[in-house]
Amino acid sequence: ARPVVAIVGRPNVGKSTVFNRMIGDRLAIVEDKPGITRDRIYGTSEWNGKAFSVIDTGGIELDGEDMMLKSIRMQAELAIEEADVIVFMCDVKSGLTQSDEEVAGILYRSGKPIVVAINKVDNMGRMNDIYEFYNLGFGDPIGISGSHGSGMGDLLDAVVKEL
Ligand code: GDP
Ligand code: MG
Repeated sequence: ARPVVAIVGRPNVGKSTVFNRMIGDRLAIVEDKPGITRDRIYGTSEWNGKAFSVIDTGGIELDGEDMMLKSIRMQAELAIEEADVIVFMCDVKSGLTQSDEEVAGILYRSGKPIVVAINKVDNMGRMNDIYEFYNLGFGDPIGISGSHGSGMGDLLDAVVKEL
């Protein structure tokens, strides 16, 4: 079977935008199981000759702070179960938040390879703002812009290196 890459992060960081860039039109399955909290969207992708599946774990995002935390915790656990590599996405505009740190804690304990992608780096001036994400402890954060597509090559290089 193809290796699996899961994208995890708070609502609105840009997971679905980046997922769509990774898969193009190769949307494979939309799971619609009765347990709605496990819904996620799969696609397929390929980079440097390596094929893999991608999961957008943010298919269902519940409102309110408590529910939001509950749903991202579940997403993180799902990603740990299913993925070979996890892309942990944060948002340079909001900076490093407490929810990011919570998710990081769960991912850290998983022992899975984690690639930190900092989205919404829409211009080079923003590049300096990604360094605080080193504090997450997963190595070099990669600045990307899902809107513009910049940094996607660097992100995919880092992902397939772990496959
Ligand atoms: P998700 O909730 O994590 O799946 O995030 P979405 O992909 O739905 O994006 C949330 C919002 O952020 C949308 O309004 C997107 O248009 C916006 N967005 C996504 N990527 C970028 C980016 O690179 N730069 C900027 N400025 N906005 C972005
Ligand atoms: Mg989404």
